[in-house]
Amino acid sequence: YKTLRFIFGDQLNANHSWYKEEDQTQYLYVIAELKQETDYVKHHIQKVAAFFAAMENFATALKQAQLNVLHLTLDDTHDDACITSLLTRLAKQYQCQQIQYQYPDEYRLKTQLQEFANSSDFNVSATDSEHFLLPFADISDHFKKDKHVKMEFFYRMMRKRFDILMQDNVPLGGQWNFDQDNRNKLKKTDLAAIPEPKIFTNNIEAILQRIRKHQVNTLGHCSATLLWPTSRAQAKQLLDYFCTHLLPCFGQFQDAMTCQSSYKWSLYHSRIAFALNTKMLHPMQVIKQVLAEFAARQEQITLAQVEGFIRQILGWREYVRGIYWQNMPDYASKNELEAARLLPDYFWSGKTKMNCMKQAITQSLETAYAHHIQRLMITGNFCLLTGIDPNEVDSWYLGIYIDAIEWVEMPNTRGMSQFADGGLIATKPYAASGNYINKMSDYCTSCHYNVKQKSDDTACPFNSLYWQFMHTHEARLARNPRIGMVYKNWQKQDTSQQHAILERAQWCLNNIEKL
Ligand code: FAD
Ligand code: SF4
Repeated sequence: YKTLRFIFGDQLNANHSWYKEEDQTQYLYVIAELKQETDYVKHHIQKVAAFFAAMENFATALKQAQLNVLHLTLDDTHDDACITSLLTRLAKQYQCQQIQYQYPDEYRLKTQLQEFANSSDFNVSATDSEHFLLPFADISDHFKKDKHVKMEFFYRMMRKRFDILMQDNVPLGGQWNFDQDNRNKLKKTDLAAIPEPKIFTNNIEAILQRIRKHQVNTLGHCSATLLWPTSRAQAKQLLDYFCTHLLPCFGQFQDAMTCQSSYKWSLYHSRIAFALNTKMLHPMQVIKQVLAEFAARQEQITLAQVEGFIRQILGWREYVRGIYWQNMPDYASKNELEAARLLPDYFWSGKTKMNCMKQAITQSLETAYAHHIQRLMITGNFCLLTGIDPNEVDSWYLGIYIDAIEWVEMPNTRGMSQFADGGLIATKPYAASGNYINKMSDYCTSCHYNVKQKSDDTACPFNSLYWQFMHTHEARLARNPRIGMVYKNWQKQDTSQQHAILERAQWCLNNIEKL
C-alpha cells in the first residue's frame, strides 16, 4: 500500500471524506486496540469494552465497503510500546511511504503525533476529523487564553452562524433561553411516566476476556452484555428513541434527580454523549433530527425543550472544546483554590452514608453514566467543598464515564465543577448546600443525615462544608457580585452558630472517609 491511514478509537465517523475518495486501493486503514490508550488513566470496564466493540464494528463496516482494513486487538499490539512504534512497524511491514491520521481531539495525542511527524522517516501528515461545528482554525477568533468567555454569547453566535432556531435574525420565540420554564423537580406523580431507557445487549465476552488476559486495570462493574451503542445503527436508534420518547420532557426534568424509579439513572437524558464523542453521530445530524421532530410534533414538544437540548450540543459542547484548546497545556495544571485532598475510598465503592453520593457513585460504577447535575452538583460539588486535588478529580471523571475524553471532561471537571481555572468557564463556583440537593431530588428523605440540620451530629455534611468553603475562600469570592448575598447571610448568623457550623465542617473533613 502507498499510504497507511490510522483511525483513533474516537474517530468512528463513516462520513469522513477519506472514505469517499474514488481510488481506495492505495490505502490501508488501521484501527488498533492499544495498551497506551487503556492505561493512561484507570477507565471504567464498560468504557474500554464499548470503545473496543465500536472500533471492531467500524472496522467491519469499512471492510464491507471494500476498503483495506487492518483491525488489531490487544493480542496483536501488546508488544508495541506506543502508538508511534506501532505506526512505524506497520508502515515498514506493509511498505507504505506515507502515514496519515485525523487530528486527535486530545492535546496528549496531538502532541505525540506531531512529534512523530517531525522525527519520522515516513511522510506523516494530518487532516481534519470533520466532526465539530466550529472549525478548529476559528477557535482562536472566539476564545483567548486565560480569558473568561461567556457561554451564552458564544451560543448566540453559533445560533446565528448555523441559523438554528432563528427567524429573520432574531431567536425563535423571542428569547435565546427558556430555562425559567425548565428544570423542575420530579414529583411523585411524575415517576410512573419516566420512559424505560433504550438499552442494547451487545455481547462483549471476547472483549472482556482480552481485557483480563492483558491485565488492563479497570474500575466499575460489567456484565457479559453491554448496554451502550457500539455501531452507527445503534447510535441512530438511541437518537430516534430520544426524539420520540424523551425530548418532550428533556428540559423540564434536566436537573431532576430521584432514587425512587427503576429508570432513575437515565430519566429524560439522551445518553448519546458516547456516540457523539466517538463520532458515530455528528452534532449537526443530532440537531437536525431534533428540529425535524419539533416541526412534526409541535403540539407535544415545546420550544423550551428543544432549545434546552440544542444549547447543550451547539453551545456547551462546542464551547468547552474551545476553552480546552485555547488553554492547553496550562489548563491541566490549574488549581486556583489550591485544593490538595485525596478522594475518599467510597468514590470506588459507593459505600457512604450520604444518600445523594451513594446514588450518584453507585450508578456510575454500575452503568459508567451519571447525568450532568449528578456530576456537577453531587460528586463535583462534594469535591469542591472538601477541597479535593483537581488532578484526583479529573482522573476519576476521565476514568469512570463512558463519554469521558479529555477535551470535554477536563473543562467540565476542572473548570466548571472545581473552579480550578479561577473562573474561565464559570463566573462563580458551583457550590451548594444540602438545600439545593433537597430542592432538585428526593435523595434526602431516605438519607442517614438530616438536610435541615447544619451543625449537630445528624447534620447533612454538605451544609457545614458549604459554609466552611465560603468562609475559607472569602477573600477571593466576596468581591464577586453574584456571591455577595451569601456572605450577608453568613454574617447574620450569630457567632456561636457560626462556630458550631465550622466545627462540624472540620469534623467532616477530618473524618471524610467515614461520612
Ligand atoms: P444530555 O443531558 O442528554 O445532553 C445532550 C448532549 O449535550 C450530551 O450528550 C453532550 O454531548 C452535550 N452536553 C451537555 N452538557 C454538556 C457540557 N457541559 N459539556 C459538553 N457537552 C455537553 N460530557 C462528556 O461528553 N464527556 C465528559 O467526560 C464529561 N464530563 C463531565 C464532567 C463533569 C464534572 C460535568 C459537570 C459534566 C461533564 N460532561 C461531560 C458534560 C455532561 O454532563 C455530559 O455530556 C452528559 O451528562 C452526557 O449525558 P447525555 O448524553 O445523556 O446528555
Ligand atoms: Fe445528600 Fe445531605 Fe441530602 Fe443526605 S441530607 S442526601 S447528604 S444532601
